[in-house]
Amino acid sequence: MSLRVLISECLLGAPVRYDGGAKPSLAVKRLADCLRRRGGEGAVVPVCPEVLGGPACPRPPAERRGSRVVTAEGVDVTRAYADGARRSLDIARACGASLAILKSKSPSCGFDRIYDGTFSGQLRAGSGVTAALFEQEGHIVVADEKLVEYCEPSMEHPIALVLGSGLAPLA
Ligand code: SF4
Repeated sequence: MSLRVLISECLLGAPVRYDGGAKPSLAVKRLADCLRRRGGEGAVVPVCPEVLGGPACPRPPAERRGSRVVTAEGVDVTRAYADGARRSLDIARACGASLAILKSKSPSCGFDRIYDGTFSGQLRAGSGVTAALFEQEGHIVVADEKLVEYCEPSMEHPIALVLGSGLAPLA
């Protein structure tokens, strides 16, 4: 099967964020263009776990607080975020995407550091619900904010390794 990469949909310009906006990333767009040139349209698998989990768009902002996900008003939305993570994993498995490029800091997609649950803009170590599930299930997860440095052709990062001969410079 040819390479498939799951990508947070907001990074590709889709207006799926909690505020109804997008968060397009030039580095991600270049990677997606590169993947499509090599593997066709299906090489890029856009997914928004929060939309898959059911919350409307726009929706209240939420953050991870311990094992739960809560809105700024204190509403527990853990179940919806867990459902979205599971559905995203199902999609990744169905299409054979073992690599995921996910949006940094998000309570769903954030990898390695996320907002700390106080809605004060502070970050803490940890991952969003979807990123944590993907990592637990053996997928390679890359935060979008790390993408540019990972794609330096001299670096032996999984993205370059997965792409075989190494990814051409994106910048
Ligand atoms: Fe973007 Fe992920 Fe949040 Fe959806 S859940 S808006 S893809 S960061």
